[in-house]
Amino acid sequence: MSFLSKTLARVSPSPTVAISQLARDLADQGRDIISLSAGEPDFDTPDNIKAAAIAAIQGGKTKYTAPDGIPELKQAVCDKFKRENGLDYKPSQISVSTGGKQVLYNALLATLNPGDEVIIPAPYWVSYPDMVRLGGGEPVIVKGERQMGYKITPEALEAAITPATKWFIFNSPSNPTGAGYTRDELKALTDVLMRHPHVWVMSDDMYEHLAYDGFAFCTPAQVEPGLYDRTLTVNGVSKAYAMTGWRIGYAGGPEHLIAAMRKLQSQSTTNPSSISQWAAVEALNGPQDFLAERNDAFLRRRDLVVAGLNGCDGITCPVPEGAFYVYPDISDCIGKTSKGGTAISDDEAFCKALLEEHGVAVVFGAAFGLSPCFRVSYAASDAQLTEACARIKAFCDGLS
Ligand code: PLP
Repeated sequence: MSFLSKTLARVSPSPTVAISQLARDLADQGRDIISLSAGEPDFDTPDNIKAAAIAAIQGGKTKYTAPDGIPELKQAVCDKFKRENGLDYKPSQISVSTGGKQVLYNALLATLNPGDEVIIPAPYWVSYPDMVRLGGGEPVIVKGERQMGYKITPEALEAAITPATKWFIFNSPSNPTGAGYTRDELKALTDVLMRHPHVWVMSDDMYEHLAYDGFAFCTPAQVEPGLYDRTLTVNGVSKAYAMTGWRIGYAGGPEHLIAAMRKLQSQSTTNPSSISQWAAVEALNGPQDFLAERNDAFLRRRDLVVAGLNGCDGITCPVPEGAFYVYPDISDCIGKTSKGGTAISDDEAFCKALLEEHGVAVVFGAAFGLSPCFRVSYAASDAQLTEACARIKAFCDGLS
C-alpha cells in the first residue's frame, strides 16, 4: 500500500514545472532566456506599504493574531468592499488568509463532500481543479469561446449545472486570458445562477485593479444582489499592490461560511503573518494613485505584445480587458515542423521548441485547460517584450 494519501493521488503535478525547469536548465547553460511565464507584477511593493511593515515590526506587532485577521484589516477590507464594489460586509463576514490561494482552498475544503461538483470555466487558473480534487470534489470544466475572448456563454453555464453542483468559480479579469466580463455579460451568467438556488458563487477578483481601456470591473454579488447570500467574494493584495511575497488574501461572505473557514484555518496555519497584515492595512487604506500609473505601463505593454503576436504567422491573439496576460491561439501552427526539426503536435511541443530554439519561455495552453494556445505574461520590460515578440516571429517564420 502506498505511504501517500489517496487524496494526493487525485492531484496532478504542475504541468508548468517541465517548461520552467527547461528554462532554468538552459539559463544555467548560459543561454539568453526571456521568461514571460511569471504570474506576478515586475514592479516593487510601494514604499508606504513597506514602511507600514517596518513600523509593525518595530512596534512589536509580531505575535499571533486572531485566526482570520486583525480587526484593523477586517475593517479596511469592509471599507474597500463598500468603496470599490458597493458591497456591505460586516467584520464578522470577512476572512483574511495567507494569500487568496488559502482563502479559496479554505472555502473549498470547508464545504465540499465527495461527489460535489464545481464548475470551472476554461482556460482556468491552474490551481482551481486540483484544489477542488483535494477537497474531495469533482471539477466540471466549461470551455470558453475564443471568438468571445475566451469567455463562457450563459447557455454553457446552464448546461453544466446538475443537482450535484456546489460552486461556480468565476474569475474576471482572468488568469490566464486577461478576459474581463462586462456588466451585461456577467448579468447573463448571474441570471442563470438565480434559477439554480443550490449553486454557490466563488468570485476570484484578484485582478480587479488591473483593467484597461476604461473596462469597468464588476463582481457577481454587486451585479445581482440576489446572490449575495451565496457568494464568496475573494480578493487580495498580491497583484494590485505588487505584494505576492507578503501572502495576504481576503474574502467577504455569509457568516456561517466565514466561521467554517476560520475553524479550518485555526487548525492549519493559525493566522496570516502579523507583519503582512499591517502592510495590507496600509495597502487598502493608503494612497491608490500609483495603480493608474502602473496600469499605463501595463496597457502599453499589452498593446505592444498583442500587436507583436498578431504579426506572427499562425498566431491569433485576442485583446484582453485586464490582468497582465494574453492568450494567443496557435491552431494554424499545429501540424507543422520547426526549423530545429520539432514536430509541433500540440501547444506543449510549440512552447518547448520555442524555448529551446529561440530562448522564450511561455506557458502552454494545456496547463490551463484550453488548447492549442499559450499564455504570455507581459509583466516584463518593454525591451524584453519587443525582443521576445521578434523571437516568436522568427520561430513562426521558420515553421513549415
Ligand atoms: N487567483 C488567481 C486567478 C491567481 O492568478 C492567483 C495567483 O496567481 C491567485 C488567485 C492567488 O493569489 P495569492 O495567493 O498570491 O493571493
